[in-house]
Parts: sequence; structure tokens; C-alpha cells
Amino acid sequence: MAMASICPHPLLPPKSLTLFLFNSNSSLRLHSRPPPPRPLRIRATASDELIRSPSNVVENVVIIGSGPAGYTAAVYAARANLKPVVFEGYQIGGVPGGQLMTTTEVENFPGFPDGITGPDLMDRMRRQAERWGAELHQEDVEFLNVKTSPFVVQSSEREVKCHSIIFATGATAKRLRLPREDEFWSRGISACAICDGASPLFKGQVLAVVGGGDTATEEALYLTKYARHVHLLVRKDQMRASRAMQDRVLNNPNITVHYNTETVDIVSNTRGQMSGILIRKADTGEESVLEAKGLFYGIGHSPNSQLLAGQVDLDSIGYVLVEEGSARTSTEGVFAAGDVQDHEWRQAITAAGSGCIAALSVERYLVNNNLVVEFHQPPTEEVKKEMTTRDVQEGFDITCTKHKGQYALRKLYHESPRLLCVLYTSPTCGPCRTLKPILSKVIDEYDQNVHFVEIDIEEDPEVAEAAGIMGTPCVQFFKNKEMLRTVPGVKMKKEYREFIEANK
Ligand SMILES: Cc1cc2nc3c(=O)[nH]c(=O)nc-3n(C[C@H](O)[C@H](O)[C@H](O)COP(=O)(O)OP(=O)(O)OC[C@H]3O[C@@H](n4cnc5c(N)ncnc54)[C@H](O)[C@@H]3O)c2cc1C
Repeated sequence: MAMASICPHPLLPPKSLTLFLFNSNSSLRLHSRPPPPRPLRIRATASDELIRSPSNVVENVVIIGSGPAGYTAAVYAARANLKPVVFEGYQIGGVPGGQLMTTTEVENFPGFPDGITGPDLMDRMRRQAERWGAELHQEDVEFLNVKTSPFVVQSSEREVKCHSIIFATGATAKRLRLPREDEFWSRGISACAICDGASPLFKGQVLAVVGGGDTATEEALYLTKYARHVHLLVRKDQMRASRAMQDRVLNNPNITVHYNTETVDIVSNTRGQMSGILIRKADTGEESVLEAKGLFYGIGHSPNSQLLAGQVDLDSIGYVLVEEGSARTSTEGVFAAGDVQDHEWRQAITAAGSGCIAALSVERYLVNNNLVVEFHQPPTEEVKKEMTTRDVQEGFDITCTKHKGQYALRKLYHESPRLLCVLYTSPTCGPCRTLKPILSKVIDEYDQNVHFVEIDIEEDPEVAEAAGIMGTPCVQFFKNKEMLRTVPGVKMKKEYREFIEANK
């Protein structure tokens, strides 16, 4: 039997009711990604619109980043009662949850003998940090001053002062800067095979991946699930990937490896669609066009360390320099963890390990310098409470704001006088996990003016089909049985806020 959810817990979604409430023509890519990173804005002065802590409040530690390094540091710092403030990021330097949000199976993180998806792993880390009392903000840090005491951290929405910082901002995929790259970005070029490989644009087509390292080989192998054939374009005369990855690529009949091959530009057909790639042989200079409907970048990463430039020692590429075997940077009180300080190992477990070292180092630093302010925050009760199966099966309470599943959707569609916000998600969609907390915060702001329902399109495919949902995440707004707007992908909080404000 289908079930409605009762607030405040996310519940099991329903399975059997058929519902045809909608008639929408929305169309978008599967798993549309958050918007591409915008250039880092370094503020010269503080903005007046920011939420500011009272001037006498100085936090023990601010953690910047929400990959394995940031969340592990948050768990340790929170368990040490340091009440860490965590800036999880939004779009600068990746997505909240970090690089693993763009991968499917993680098979090498200890404790998961059957593997775990990247987004699931990051969800668990996030919940663990939250449970121990870390204060999480899904905002980008845009300004940092570690030359003052206390340090000043400004995000897109607030300013925080703190005694110490753990910098765990990871690394970002590099671009090739082809002449027509901007024209074909997201229209043929992608930096994430796992996000985009299954999209109709690429399914059954000949595709190419550029790069010769682990990222490129992983992307090429992944794309063979969907593509007719995959070309791997390697600039050098050999691959840099691990031996195991090279073997998997070379033994796959659906992948052709092109060595000594430079990627020069994108070639289009008369309809302006990507039809091939102009390549050049590095040894002979000979140019030719390789037929391909998509080009995936797997050419490595740049450390997201711009905020620290000029304030903390970086190496020539931009990796944060830390004292060997520690998380200490050249500035006292500033610690670094994860890929932003590690160009060699770059693994989830090494990032998590360095996050642990950074948090323990912060604790020691604060105690040694008599800076620590104790906070005794027990684990939140929220995570301990469980709904009973019977509650789940029979309960539906229209006075509650947040719901899940098609029974709730049907009831609210017909009975709610409020603005109805429907979020369509799917379990393997990383951007969906990015959007959920963003939307949740906005819904909280309009608690009595809006109803919210989450629909998992794998659990309720007929609802998604009837609603014209082509990809996730996607949000639709309804009022009085009328669809007002479809919002595909992940948007800034203020976009949802403005729409609700105008239509509540
Ligand atoms: C496709 C892919 C598959 C992978 N598979 C595996 C695997 O199977 N096993 C494995 O061990 N490793 C894997 N890795 C490597 C692993 O993901 C990284 O080593 C690890 O995520 C690094 O963790 P991190 O915390 O240092 O940084 P990241 O995961 O990069 O996270 C950085 C965080 O910082 C945030 N951030 C950046 N700038 C700002 C800012 N200005 N303000 C606020 N926040 C900011 C970002 O939003 C992000 O949350 C994979 C990587 C990729 C790309």
C-alpha cells in the first residue's frame, strides 16, 4: 500500500498508486549538474548584507570544505566539543560533498565490503558530523583573512571570526581551453562522465575521453556502458594511469587508445551540433577529424587554494604546503587537509586521514594557546528517533510541511491551500543531494505557507512520467491544482525564495 509521510522525518516512499496529476512539457538532461563554477570573488571589504556574529563571539574552528577531509575534520572537532563551523561550499571548487559526489561505486573505502556509492558515503559523513554538533552552512567562502587575529571568514551569506581554520577545499577538474570549448560546454563537452554519460545526447554514440591518468581511464571505462565506442586521447606515448586501470582499458574492445594525440578543437555539423574532434599527432603534426558526439575531460585537477594565496605558503602549482606528517601550514592556526595539500595520493581515505590529523592538531593548538571555548553539544536527538512502520503506512498529516511519496503528493495536490513544492530526485543523482538541503532551508523559512513533497522517480516512475520529468533534480510548483513553474537543476537559494515569496 502507498504511504504518505509525516513530518519531520523523511519516510519510505510509496510504490503502488498510479497518479496522473500533471501535464507538463519540461525537458532537461538526466542528472543535470549544478551550474559551472563562477570565478572566485575575493572581496576587498566586508559587505553590509552579511549575517555577522556578535563582535565578541570567536569560534574555535572554521572548516572550509565538505569532502572526506572536511567532514572527517568536522566529526573529530565536534566530538572534541569544539563546535566547528563548517562551510560546505556551494559551487566554487566543486559541489558540497566534494569529488565523490560525481562518482558511482567507491570500492576502496574501508568499512564497506560491498562498496558504497560516492553520494551515499558523503551523506553518511555529513550526517555523522551533524550528529555530533557541527554547524553546517552550504555556502561558499569568498573571503578569508588569516593575517588578523582572530581570523575572518566571509561566505556568500555570513561573516565568522575564529581562532583556527581547517582548509579542506579539495581540487577541481582542469579544462583544456579549446577555441570552441565554451560553445560546446554541456552541449558535447563534459568534465563528468558519471554525471552526463547516461544522457540521451551521448547514449549509443561514439565518444572520446581526453587524458591518460586514472580519471581519464575511469571515465572511458564508465562510458562504455552507454557509448557505441570510446576513444581515449592520450597526449604522450603512454598512459599515466595505474597498471590495473591501463590493463582494463587495453583489454576493453570498446575502447581505442590514441597515443601521441593532441586534442585541438571541436568540429560541428551544419546544424551546429558537435560531430567530431580535430586531433593532431604530436609526433608528425598531422591533423585529422575523429568522429565523436561527445568529449569528456579527464585531465586532472587544480587545487582550490586561491583564498589562501599570499597568506599561506603554496607550491608552484598552488597546493598548500604543510609541514611533513602534519596539517600545519606556514601560518599558525591555519591547517590544511585533503587534496588541496596532496598532489600525490588524492584518495578519499587519505583525505579523511588528513582531516583527522588537522582536527586533532587544532584541538592541541587551541588548548596550548588557551584559546578553546568549550561547547557541550550532545548528539542531536533527531537522528535517534525512528518512525514505526505503521506510522509510515497510515500516517499523513496535512498540518506538517514536509512529505515524501506519491500518496502525500496526491493528497496535497487536491487538498492543500498552500503553494505546493515538488522535488523530483533519484537515488544515484549527486546534484539531488546538493539541492535537498538548499531547498529544505528555504522551505523552513516559509513553513506555514508552503507544502513540500519529495518524489523519488525510481520509486514512482509513473508520477515522474506524468509530470514530464526528464531528469533530476527538478522542482515543480503548484497552487490550486495548477502548475506554476518547473525549475530544473540546482539553483541558488534566492531563486526558490523569490518564487515562493511571490506566490505563497
Ligand atoms: C570521478 C572520481 C572518482 C573517484 N573515486 C575514488 C574512489 O573510488 N576512491 C577514493 O578513495 N578516491 C576517489 N576519488 C578521489 C577522491 O574523491 C578525492 O581524493 C577526495 O574527494 C578528496 O577529498 P577532499 O576532502 O580533499 O576534497 P574534495 O572531495 O574535492 O572536496 C572539496 C570540498 O571543498 C569545497 N570547497 C571548495 N572551495 C570552497 C570554498 N571557497 N568555500 C567552501 N567550500 C569550498 C567543495 O564544495 C567540496 O565540498 C575519486 C575522484 C573522482 C573525481
